Amino acid sequence: MTAVQQDATTLAPNYHPLPVTVASAEGSWVTDTAGRRYLDLLSAYSALNFGHRHPALVAAAHAQLDRLTLTSRAFDHDLLHPFADRLAALVGPLLVGRPMVLPMNTGAEAVETAIKAARKWGYDVKGVPDGQARIVVADGNFHGRTTTIVSFSSDPDARGGFGPYTPGFVRVPYGDAAALEAALDERTVAVLLEPVQGEQGVVVPPAGYLPAVRAACTAADVLLVADEIQSGLGRTGTTLACEVWGVRPDLVTLGKALGGGVVPVSAVVGRDDVLGVLTAGTHGSTFGGNPLACAVALAVIGLLESGEPQARARELGEHLGARLDPLVADGSLAAVRRVGMWAGLDVAPGRPGGPTSGRDLCERLLARGVLAKDTHGRTLRLAPPLTITRDDLDDALDRLVDALHAA
Ligand code: PLP
Repeated sequence: MTAVQQDATTLAPNYHPLPVTVASAEGSWVTDTAGRRYLDLLSAYSALNFGHRHPALVAAAHAQLDRLTLTSRAFDHDLLHPFADRLAALVGPLLVGRPMVLPMNTGAEAVETAIKAARKWGYDVKGVPDGQARIVVADGNFHGRTTTIVSFSSDPDARGGFGPYTPGFVRVPYGDAAALEAALDERTVAVLLEPVQGEQGVVVPPAGYLPAVRAACTAADVLLVADEIQSGLGRTGTTLACEVWGVRPDLVTLGKALGGGVVPVSAVVGRDDVLGVLTAGTHGSTFGGNPLACAVALAVIGLLESGEPQARARELGEHLGARLDPLVADGSLAAVRRVGMWAGLDVAPGRPGGPTSGRDLCERLLARGVLAKDTHGRTLRLAPPLTITRDDLDDALDRLVDALHAA
């Protein structure tokens, strides 16, 4: 019995992992329990933008472990304000207004926090009648797994069987700014969107979409909340994906890469008149903003302040595109969507010798020493570490080409 099968006896079956058991990792490479090495093209859904065990992040964690790990928010600690200041300085200029930072742990918690802040702002500031706030979201969204968040999912697997559902959300087609604008009314407090829909298969919106959404929100006094938990912090070649379209949201949710793949760290960053409504006692988290999280996140912010990860994502992303596009032209793939170092590949089912599904392609890649993850049946998501070398990326893409043509 393999380690994967053994685990399945006591582990809840809410995942269907590929048959590999990882024992160690460094940079873009992971090693399984049998000593086999793989190139990681998933990067833990972009939590590992800086690769596995980046030396600066591991050093920050080690140093902090020897000093202070947790205070709770009952007391301040010496990295809490530096974390907020540096994150606000990094991201604030990309947002509307004067930035505030509210630290949490997971992505879903950051989204829940943004929802709470937007609703309370709606009641306290915008004057929406109590209990009537509406938030507009998009079809195909993925914002996490809590009961409120799955309430407004359009994915039957994510949502089905988990009711009763939280009211107050309206779903509109993604990429259709007119439909979104038509959904805004005087009770609407926020539009919550992923600038690029990651879980949906790296769905990149039409060029005018986000600017039109921004304009509609501004005109209707509605907050634009960008969920950049997967898209943010370098992946798209910019610090925020919204920058690609020159759009400044009112609030942004960050997570995944903010903890550098070392610890869970998330945050909501945005307008102080919005986050300022969450006064003492109205919101919190035992571990949110803990010293270990802040130490690692400060090191992550340091990497992003240099602009290097963003520049690498732009440069290697161009190369990734140049390698992937011909695979559509020659029929090996049905479609490729790409922004920066992030790509969604749709397999072309029925092609002789080709993969029958995204999962089939992932299994072929696994056999060739490459880790990647399928989504929604026929799509493969590629999100290599931004630190990957060009040679390793080429090596992985050579193996992809091979996997597309033989089982
Ligand atoms: N929002 C987006 C855009 C995500 O991609 C994810 C995770 O994939 C989340 C929220 C939820 O994050 P977490 O799994 O840390 O709760």
